[in-house]
Amino acid sequence: MAEATQNVPRARPQVWSVIIGMTVFHLACLGAFYTGVSTAAIVAAIFMYVFRGIGVTAGFHRLLAHRSFKTNRVVQFILALMGSLAVQGGPLWWVAHHRHHHAATETEEDIHSPVTHGMWQAHMGWMMTDAAFNEKGTNSRDLHKFPEIKFLQRYYVWLVIAQPLILYGVGEWLGAAYNTSGLQLVVWGFFISTVFTWHVTFCVNSVCHRWGAQPYDADDASTNNVFIGYLGFGEGWHNNHHKFPSSARHGLEWWQLDLTWWLVRLMMLVGLASEPKIPKQFRKDGDAAAGA
Ligand SMILES: [Zn+2]
Ligand SMILES: [Zn+2]
Repeated sequence: MAEATQNVPRARPQVWSVIIGMTVFHLACLGAFYTGVSTAAIVAAIFMYVFRGIGVTAGFHRLLAHRSFKTNRVVQFILALMGSLAVQGGPLWWVAHHRHHHAATETEEDIHSPVTHGMWQAHMGWMMTDAAFNEKGTNSRDLHKFPEIKFLQRYYVWLVIAQPLILYGVGEWLGAAYNTSGLQLVVWGFFISTVFTWHVTFCVNSVCHRWGAQPYDADDASTNNVFIGYLGFGEGWHNNHHKFPSSARHGLEWWQLDLTWWLVRLMMLVGLASEPKIPKQFRKDGDAAAGA
C-alpha cells in the first residue's frame, strides 16, 4: 500500500498554484458585476490586452523563441518585459516550451497537441500537469547570455503582482471624475484583460491545430484560423508559421492581417529592427531568408 502511494506521481506545488491561480483569475472577472463598467475600464482592458499581447507575439514568440528579426538589447528587454506582464510565465520557460512544441509537433512529447492529448489539454490543461514544470529549459539556454532576460524570468511573479496594485492606484486617482474606481480598473484592466489574452494565446495551441485552412503541408495539424489571426495580432496564421517557423511575418497573403508584422515593419522604419527573416517567395530587398 505504502509502495503504491509512493508510485503515484505527486502534483508539484507549481501545478496547484496554476490550478488555483487560473480559477481565481476566471472568477475575479465576475467582479465586473459588482464594480460595473466605465469608459476608463474599457480603455484599460484594451490597452492591457494590446500592450501585453504584443509583448507575447513580438517579444516572446517572434523575437526570443524564433529570433526572426534583429533589434537592440533595450528594445528586446522592453518587448520581453511586456510579454512577462501577460501572466504566461517568464520568458525562458515560455520560449523553452514553445521551441519544444515546434521540435516535436503532434507527438507524445508535444504536451499541448490536441491531436495526441485532446482539446482540453491543448488549450489549458497542459499547464496543470507536472510535464509543464519538468521543462529544464535546455533549449532556451542561448538566451542566458542576456542577464536582463534571466532577471525577467526570476522576478516574473513580482511583475504579475505589481500590475493590480498599479491599476488600483490609477483607478483611485482617476476616481469619480472618470466614473471609475481602483477595484473597477483591477477587474477590467487586469483580470478580464488577462483572461481574454490567455484564451486567445491558448487558442493558437488548441484551435489553430484543429480548425482552419491548411494551405501548406507543414507535416502537422496546424491551421490558419481567421478569428485567431485577427484577434491574436497575426499569430493565428499558424499553418504559415509551422511551414516557415523562423519567418517574422506570419500573415503571408494581403488579407491575412498581421499586426505583429506591422509593428516589426514600423520598428524597421525607425531603425529599431532589421533583417527580418521572410520566406523566399515573399521576400523583398533587405529581408533575410527564413528556413522552411
Ligand atoms: Zn503550433
Ligand atoms: Zn512558433
